[in-house]
Amino acid sequence: MEDYISTLFQDWAPSQMLDGFDTFLSGAIVTAAARWTDAFRGARGCFFTFHRAAPRAVWPSLPNRNFYLDLDFLDALLTHLAMSGRRIVTIEEGLRLAADGTTRDTFVNFSIDDCYRDTYEEVVPLFRRHGVPLTLFVTTGIPDGTMSLCWAGLEDTIRSRDSILVDGEEIKTDTIERKLATYAALQTQWDGPAMGEHYAKFCAGNGVDPLEMREKHAITWQMLSELAQDPLVEIGSHTVSHPRISELTPEEARYELGGSRERLREKLGVPVKHFAFPYGRMKDCGPRDFAIAQEVGYEGVATTTKGLIRPGPVPYAYPRVTLNGAYRTLLVPELHMAGASAAAARALGRV
Ligand SMILES: [Zn+2]
Repeated sequence: MEDYISTLFQDWAPSQMLDGFDTFLSGAIVTAAARWTDAFRGARGCFFTFHRAAPRAVWPSLPNRNFYLDLDFLDALLTHLAMSGRRIVTIEEGLRLAADGTTRDTFVNFSIDDCYRDTYEEVVPLFRRHGVPLTLFVTTGIPDGTMSLCWAGLEDTIRSRDSILVDGEEIKTDTIERKLATYAALQTQWDGPAMGEHYAKFCAGNGVDPLEMREKHAITWQMLSELAQDPLVEIGSHTVSHPRISELTPEEARYELGGSRERLREKLGVPVKHFAFPYGRMKDCGPRDFAIAQEVGYEGVATTTKGLIRPGPVPYAYPRVTLNGAYRTLLVPELHMAGASAAAARALGRV
């Protein structure tokens, strides 16, 4: 059973491009099927999350491309959701609809975690064109300039060069396969407390200016202030420095949760009612952390435990489904909205 489900999920990863005709055709079929099945299933919500997005022409060349949604795919998905009668809502509205229990609508939320420059340049403009809301869970160390954004810097360098130097050794990055493999290998190697040191050495060895690189990818407070004024944008918090909260002392956790909320309120002047846990799986956050979130004033917290929002009282720590950039077909979000990914995650023990 486990193998069967794994295989099924792997097979739903069409890494080839969807051309306009495919998107239209699959959209029309999936829309009809979605309307039919929604009529039987009744009201429920699905909260999607992702990190970055890139134009279709750029997406294939990104060494960490599964971290990005293809903007054309996201555009097609938003059209599809509207055509199939789903309501796109803020988290606050979604929780209100769930608690109300009388609605027959299926509702969907999209949240972006971290928030890089492309949130401002690419993603919010797309949601505005569709006239639908978007939630931003901001890591305040990004606009404050206290985070190095080393993964973005590593990726950018690998993407733009045919070879890089790691510990004095030349590594060829002249094909997309080599770029993908090199990024994946270094990400595994650097992950941990020495990540900053690895990145500093890498920048020095390759003539990369880390400040310039950070500016290229970071969202600024000015951009966020503009976005926060938009009624379609809901602001939430995603820590100060993006740590795994379950590994922190209670004082450190309180600083990450409470400090980021205060900073957002101070800089943007908007209420910050929700918080999203970095990484967000059960090993990354637990009851102690939910209690701290409540203590510092959040009304609810987002995890990345797969699941749907059911009618009735919503748990304080609610589920979200991560959209992986590799799956560029409307069938995959439809399966998420039908609860298939949550069922598969439970079967595989991936919670
Ligand atoms: Zn994050």
